Amino acid sequence: MSVNYAAGLSPYADKGVCGLPEVFDNPEERKAKVETLAQLIKESQYLVVHSGAGISTSVGIPDFRGPKGVWTLEEKGESPHFETTFEDARPSFTHMALLGLQRAGYLKYLISQNVDGLHVRSGFPRDVLSELHGNMFVEECEKCGRQYVREKVIGVMGLKPTGRHCDVVRSRGLRACRGKLMSTILDWEDALPDKDLNKAEEASRRADLALTLGTSLQIKPSGDLPLFTKRKGGKLAIVNLQATKHDKHAHLRIHSYVDDVMKQLMELLGVDIPKWNGPTVCESVTSESTTDVKPPRAVKAKKKVKRDPIKKERKRDPTALTDDGSVKEETVSVKRERADSPVQLKLEK
Ligand SMILES: [Zn+2]
Repeated sequence: MSVNYAAGLSPYADKGVCGLPEVFDNPEERKAKVETLAQLIKESQYLVVHSGAGISTSVGIPDFRGPKGVWTLEEKGESPHFETTFEDARPSFTHMALLGLQRAGYLKYLISQNVDGLHVRSGFPRDVLSELHGNMFVEECEKCGRQYVREKVIGVMGLKPTGRHCDVVRSRGLRACRGKLMSTILDWEDALPDKDLNKAEEASRRADLALTLGTSLQIKPSGDLPLFTKRKGGKLAIVNLQATKHDKHAHLRIHSYVDDVMKQLMELLGVDIPKWNGPTVCESVTSESTTDVKPPRAVKAKKKVKRDPIKKERKRDPTALTDDGSVKEETVSVKRERADSPVQLKLEK
C-alpha cells in the first residue's frame, strides 16, 4: 500500500505552518549540545520521548511540514515522494536507539504521533508506548476493544470498519465476540484514543525530562504534552530541523538530523543499539521475549470514550506564525478522566 495515508484523510483547510526553513547546527555546536543532552538524560529519573514524522524520513516516509512534507507540497499543488511502502519500511537508527534506551532503563515512556507502525515493529514494548494518532497495522474491536497487530497495513482509515470481525472467544467459551474491527487511524476530527492519551498525559506529568524528536509540536493535544513536564518542573529538550511551536520553552534545542544526534548520544551513554531482525511485536516491558509479527498478537483494551469538543482540541491554529517567522506558542489545558484498563495478552491464531 502507498505510504500516502494522508490522501485517505478528509479535506481539512488548516494544516498548520508548513515549509519553515530548516536550520542546521554546525558540528561543534551539535557535539556540545548532544553532550548536554546526554548529561540531562543521565541525571533524569523519568525520561519521556515524543516522536514525530521526522524520525521516519530517513527510511523513506515523508513528513508533513518539512520542505518536502506532505502538507507543504500539497500547498504548492505537488505530490509527496515515497521511497517505500509501510510494509517494507525498516525502523530507522532512531527507532532502534529508542528501543536501546528503553532496555537500558533510561527511557520510561514513548509517545508517538506517527502512524507508520515502526515503533511497534521495532519491538518497542506496547505497554510503555502511546500511539496517539493510530497505527496503520492495528485494528480494534469496537465491541470488546481488543487490538490486533497485523502483518500488513489495514488499508482503511478514519476509524472506519475494516470488514473483519473480532474472533475472540469469550470466557464462557460459547461464541466469538464477532464485533466489527475498526481502523485505528484518526481522521482530522476523530477523538484521540483515550487509553493511549491518558497514559501519555500521566507519563508527561511524571517525567522530569521530555525529549521531542522530529516533531513541530503543532498538533494538539499531542504537541502540547511536553509542556505538562515543564509545568511540573521538568526540562524540555527539542531535536528538530525546523522551528517548533514550543521552542521558547526548551532548555535545549538541537537543529540536526535525529539519526545523527542519536548516534552520538548512544555513544556518550554507552548504550548498545539492538539489531533488527524483521518486524516483531512486544506487548509488555515484562515479557521476556518478542515474537515475530506472524502470527499477530492481540491486546485487550478498553473501548474508546468519545471526547468533546474534539475539533477544538486537535485543531491547528491558523494564526500560528508570529511576525518574526517563528511559530506562535500557545498553552492548552486538556483535562480528561482516567480510563485505564488492564492489558491482557492473547495470541491470535
Ligand atoms: Zn471483540
